[in-house]
Amino acid sequence: MLDPVTGISNIHSADTVLGAPGLFVKPFKTERWQDRRDPIVVVGGGLAGIAAAAVLESSGLPVMLIEARQDLGGRAGSFQDAQSSEILDNCQHVLLGCCTNLIDLYRRLGASEHIRWYRRVHYLDPRGRHYSLWAVPGLPAPLHLGPSMGLFNLLSPAQRLSVAHAMRAMMRIGRSGRAALANVSFGEWLARHHQSPDVIQKFYDPVVISALNEDTQRTAAIYAVEVFQEAMLRNRRGYMLGLPDCPLQTLYSKRPCRDIRLGKRVAEIMCRDRTVTTVRLVSGETIAATAVVLATNHHAASKMIAPEWLRTDSRFAGLEKLESVPILGAHLWFDRPLMKIPHAALIEGPLQWLFRKDSSGTAVHGVISAARQWVSTPHDRCAALFEHQLRTLFQQPEARLVRYRIVIEKRATFSPVPGVDRYRPTQEPPAGGIENLFLAGDYTRTGWPATMEGAVRSGYLAAGAVLKVLPQTAGLPTPLADDLPFELSARLISGRD
Ligand SMILES: Cc1cc2nc3c(=O)[nH]c(=O)nc-3n(C[C@H](O)[C@H](O)[C@H](O)COP(=O)(O)OP(=O)(O)OC[C@H]3O[C@@H](n4cnc5c(N)ncnc54)[C@H](O)[C@@H]3O)c2cc1C
Repeated sequence: MLDPVTGISNIHSADTVLGAPGLFVKPFKTERWQDRRDPIVVVGGGLAGIAAAAVLESSGLPVMLIEARQDLGGRAGSFQDAQSSEILDNCQHVLLGCCTNLIDLYRRLGASEHIRWYRRVHYLDPRGRHYSLWAVPGLPAPLHLGPSMGLFNLLSPAQRLSVAHAMRAMMRIGRSGRAALANVSFGEWLARHHQSPDVIQKFYDPVVISALNEDTQRTAAIYAVEVFQEAMLRNRRGYMLGLPDCPLQTLYSKRPCRDIRLGKRVAEIMCRDRTVTTVRLVSGETIAATAVVLATNHHAASKMIAPEWLRTDSRFAGLEKLESVPILGAHLWFDRPLMKIPHAALIEGPLQWLFRKDSSGTAVHGVISAARQWVSTPHDRCAALFEHQLRTLFQQPEARLVRYRIVIEKRATFSPVPGVDRYRPTQEPPAGGIENLFLAGDYTRTGWPATMEGAVRSGYLAAGAVLKVLPQTAGLPTPLADDLPFELSARLISGRD
């Protein structure tokens, strides 16, 4: 019963209709959206949309992915530099061994071989002195990092002991104890566990600010503790640092589904009787949909749905409360090789992390997370400060910055402050919500902060929710990948979940 032009169901509401007064017309059933044969339309080709489309297509459903830009990847994507024609990443993206769903997606896309894994995490102090954390092969978690922590003389012996106490406290609370920290700031948690400002700057800041894109003091303890538990304390592979050896866009060369519409912007998701019927593009074209996975960021998501439908669906009620936090990425080209190691966490800024981008170390990429105060700084001023920092760091006072490209993403991620989860929507519709509209995106409720792993989890969760309600796919297992195993030694030490 679909209108052949608009694709909109022309049945208005109830299960039965009455004709002329007194004349009873045989009752007929309203079409159920689950019985339609139109594609599942995924709106947005960032990691969340890619993940959802890959799962839905591999489950045998018809899928169409619509992306406004000419390339997939969204915030984890690349662009062509107008000046040099080079393909540059929006910003260096880092993954960790505990990102099991992202790793699973790269496997599906045939991109795993492009991820270089580093077992040694490098640190540089402002004078260029080198420190590192590494795991002893064969030692189980959480003992695997113990020897390198013991030698990590960026911290004094007393400071290392104090970090060890805090790590033990994180282990003892387990995952359930971490959930109880949803409304507590990490600053408060660190103070409770007697972590000094110097330890916070040298040990916690390089990990927490970059992983959560928020100040260590301000971020929610639930997420900061999650980073340490999942990356360092439960499994020996969790901390390993992964970096693509190619531009991010190369990772998406193998398409997640056959029907992809690039360069098409969705204007409206049209609903009737609490179901989505059609997706209308800015060009005016309409596409009938069995269901929609809306995988844009949260700013775009609510703009595509008419206010009367937004009001009926509680998932959209808190989105305005999510605060956006910027990230700055600096592509820097020097006149000589500067950087020998592949990456480094910097103990003092302005740049917080550095990545070597060519074999000689002439091209480097610097990142500043939680970069609020950099948004209005002129790029030439940024470049001058970074040039000075790197000359000092690598003790090359003559080194000259020959070219730079600064990218500031103002809405890089939402701020993971205490209590934020109450504003994050579920992927599946709530009671009274739009029945066949599923949400994906790093901002949805995944249990993870806004990261590539969080985005992929959201896509898998949204696709899993679609599979569950369609009769032909209802029995399929959840697409979520298993977390890294909780190693026995870690379990014995923590005694918790
Ligand atoms: C500068 C920066 C650095 C980062 N560094 C890291 C890192 O090192 N490690 C890490 O794990 N995470 C990092 N992140 C976070 C990570 O990139 C994001 O969490 C993740 O990519 C979000 O994916 P997403 O699919 O949820 O959203 P997005 O990537 O925003 O995808 C949404 C897509 O929807 C499309 N879209 C929007 N409106 C429409 C429309 N009307 N019609 C059709 N399409 C539309 C957009 O074009 C976009 O492609 C970083 C983010 C930024 C910005």
